[in-house]
Amino acid sequence: METFGVVRRDGRSDPFFDGAARDRLVIRHCPPCDHWYAPDAGGCPECGAEELEWAEASGRAVLVSWAVAHPRGGEPAPLALVELAEGPWMYGRLHGVTSPREGLPLRARFVHPDEGESHPLFEEDREDRGL
Ligand SMILES: [Zn+2]
Repeated sequence: METFGVVRRDGRSDPFFDGAARDRLVIRHCPPCDHWYAPDAGGCPECGAEELEWAEASGRAVLVSWAVAHPRGGEPAPLALVELAEGPWMYGRLHGVTSPREGLPLRARFVHPDEGESHPLFEEDREDRGL
């Protein structure tokens, strides 16, 4: 459960973490067909392209589902499956969401721990009135 879907730096995912260090949500994009994918996507099932580019997403998302994870030796942390505004689903941590519900508007913010990787948290997007 503790590795459940959350992106880890593994060489292939470096642009995701380099983006997070600059407060940018960087995910996969397929230029030929303009579909977006989660950071761990390897190819495009829509058009068959084998190479996806890294591109900056808006950071806006809605909550799909959530669970409280209990990482070994760590604090329990709410883990969420979110649908990004660009379409792909990805896992991430929630922050400060007191009453999660399906469809809750979220926005990525980035934390920069002294030790470890910068990474996104998803918090409630209180300025979102349009959805
Ligand atoms: Zn494609």
